[in-house]
Amino acid sequence: MLTGTIRQGQGGIYEVETPDGVVEASLRGRLKRDERSGGKVVVGDRVDLESEASGEGIVWAIQRVHERTTLLERRSPGKAPRSKPIVANVDQVLIVFAAANPDPHLRMLDRFLVIAGSSGIAPLIVINKVDVKGEAAARAFFAPYEKAGYRLLFTAAKAGIGVDELRESLCGRLSALTGPSGVGKSSLLNAIQPGLGLRVAAISEAVNKGKHTTVTAQLIPLDCGGWVADTPGLRELGLWEIDRDQLQFYFPEIERLLGGCRYPTCSHIHEPDCAIRTAVAAGELDAGRYDSYRRMVLGEDDF
Ligand code: GDP
Ligand code: ZN
Repeated sequence: MLTGTIRQGQGGIYEVETPDGVVEASLRGRLKRDERSGGKVVVGDRVDLESEASGEGIVWAIQRVHERTTLLERRSPGKAPRSKPIVANVDQVLIVFAAANPDPHLRMLDRFLVIAGSSGIAPLIVINKVDVKGEAAARAFFAPYEKAGYRLLFTAAKAGIGVDELRESLCGRLSALTGPSGVGKSSLLNAIQPGLGLRVAAISEAVNKGKHTTVTAQLIPLDCGGWVADTPGLRELGLWEIDRDQLQFYFPEIERLLGGCRYPTCSHIHEPDCAIRTAVAAGELDAGRYDSYRRMVLGEDDF
């Protein structure tokens, strides 16, 4: 028996990374029936493999899927909301924005942070292109995020700023990569490991052009151990299944103040004696972050 990690799957054939190398495997028994009825083995899953002799030599069969630590899912709205798993066992979500060129879209960043938080996955915010704006200015601009408790890295792909630190943060882990196009995701990955960014870009492009009917992620191995998951469609992940009254828990700086509101069910939108709105008025809580929270609660989040 072998245990490995699913790197890619298509047409019922899965590419599995094992201590003995990469093997192809297919599903057996109950797992196969589950797949037909919509149950899924996804990229990132840890699986047990059994070898079977066949006319063509040894073939590998996936016998068991290990319990998942996390699961990123795409959710569709509607009466019977459907979710489609994208990648399992992600250790961190790498959210890349540029300090400038393009200017960072903070409402989009806030949305990514809520998705990561609600999936129970630690986000790592990477602010690239600090050579354009200057690191000090970039740090000042993103200070509310640092103050909220998020981890941020400031990088410049070409100048090599922060690249070693980023590599260290990725080694030995499964990281899901996201962020708008043009911020330097491919450049950063290439700075970490030549060719890595090109592979991710090629996959994303193929997906965007609709060459794949089933949009699935792939794990791209790092030389230092671990993987980067290109996550097509992560940008379109919805907030639909997140209860509005849970949103307050995915803004850490809001969550810390919760005890101070007069009403325990305070939505922090219109109630009197609200600790959150008081903190915003006093300049202690970032107005932009609060605005993102408010829009999400009211359903005015327009992505
Ligand atoms: P992606 O779409 O997020 O993968 O972004 P790319 O890696 O393709 O980079 C988009 C553009 O930004 C390219 O022209 C890069 O040369 C440029 N770029 C990437 N990183 C940096 C950086 O740190 N500083 C500057 N000034 N330009 C960068
Ligand atoms: Zn309140």
